[in-house]
Amino acid sequence: MTLIAEHDPDLGVGWPPDPEGWGEPPWADELGPLPVDEVDEVLEWTSLMNSFVAQRLAAVDTFRRRAYADAERYGGGSRELIDRSVRLELAAALRVTEHAAGDLLGFAAAMVHRYPAAWRSLSRSGITERHARILVEQLDAAGPEISARVGERALVLAEQQPVGVFRRKLRALVDTEQAATLAQRQAVAVRERRVEIEPGRDGMGWLHLHAPLVELHAVHARLTAQAKAIARAPGETRTLDEIRADAACDLLIDGDTTLLPADARGIRATVAVTVPALTLLADAAGAGAGAGAGAGAGAGDGAGAVPPVVDGIGPISVEQARVLCGGADGWMRVLTHPETGAVLSVGRESYKPPASLRRLVRWRAGRCMAPGCSVPADRCEIDHTVAWEHGGHTSLDNHSPLCKGHHTVKHHGGWHVDQIAGSGGALRWRSPSGRIYVVRPERTLPTFHPDPPPPSAPAPDRAPPPRPTLDREPPPF
Ligand SMILES: [Zn+2]
Repeated sequence: MTLIAEHDPDLGVGWPPDPEGWGEPPWADELGPLPVDEVDEVLEWTSLMNSFVAQRLAAVDTFRRRAYADAERYGGGSRELIDRSVRLELAAALRVTEHAAGDLLGFAAAMVHRYPAAWRSLSRSGITERHARILVEQLDAAGPEISARVGERALVLAEQQPVGVFRRKLRALVDTEQAATLAQRQAVAVRERRVEIEPGRDGMGWLHLHAPLVELHAVHARLTAQAKAIARAPGETRTLDEIRADAACDLLIDGDTTLLPADARGIRATVAVTVPALTLLADAAGAGAGAGAGAGAGAGDGAGAVPPVVDGIGPISVEQARVLCGGADGWMRVLTHPETGAVLSVGRESYKPPASLRRLVRWRAGRCMAPGCSVPADRCEIDHTVAWEHGGHTSLDNHSPLCKGHHTVKHHGGWHVDQIAGSGGALRWRSPSGRIYVVRPERTLPTFHPDPPPPSAPAPDRAPPPRPTLDREPPPF
């Protein structure tokens, strides 16, 4: 703590940038600018490298276009033949495989012609080559229509987020844009479901089950939970993979789990389904009161209504969400406000957070809350941000998941970490060199309050129930 105070930065030098402005710490004025240090030197070289990468891509693309132009002028062969020749020359000159050369040519053409704004950003080091690769891959896969709609937002994300977070957020952005047609596409795709055997080597083989991804995650989660219970038995030496495979065979062949140890029986998977409450409400209003109410509710939510999402899978249709949230056990239902009665804090009563609080903390963060880390929250440890022995509470405001490595770094690596008050779980990491990195959780927990009754209410027998409005703190990102 004292070590860091000597090196305090001008907020905003830190990366990623802080678009919502948490404000400067009170001590920022007293200390002046951060002295130039080794990290600055690394940043400078990195910035030059990004710029060189952009120039290199432009040169590669110019080389390809020149070959086309020459071929046209001198009556050369087909496009395919020219491509082949260009690839061969580039591969020979760079001493890489033709496959790698082809990949470079494709990437260069995409950046220069399809995503010129991304190319400009790379050339002034607004993004890195990794960001550019992910942007091209995901937007190309989404098709020209979607990529035209989300391109600008994708670039803003790329310029703000570390690679892992950027990849997930771009995926979610594309999914949300595609969600409009999700139900139809799913209805077609589900008819492809089947089970197949693929022979392997040494008397082994694969059993492929092609089925809706939500169900498959539930299957895998149940097998994993059972395997973990079995692995705890004394004398058990099989790996988790082995036990999972054995449990799957036992279940499919015998159809029961009586041979399993007692604590592995009756395990059901829990899959978190996140359903934006307003989506379900709007849908119900549309079904109950006719198209007018539905359209009105949709318009109120803005253009792209947020689709329901299953943890680790992506969006699902509202119909499917309704089924999952309606009955079956084993689905952890998370409307995007805390479940009524959820334990948000036990103060100083208990050091160990209760299971429901641990689940909520993990769900909110999604990942390890260290800068750029992608370890899923369910493989993380739950950390008291302000340590228990320093008076920290056992509460949602004082817990974050951290993977083992980052948990150790937080406590012994000279970093200072605090949770930003009122931010809904954002952590501010101050590095030993004094840089600030703000890490936000994947999800926010909005609060709800009912609307005041409308000034001119419709006929009393058809009056709609008061519609809650969303009151997010901080504003959604
Ligand atoms: Zn981590």
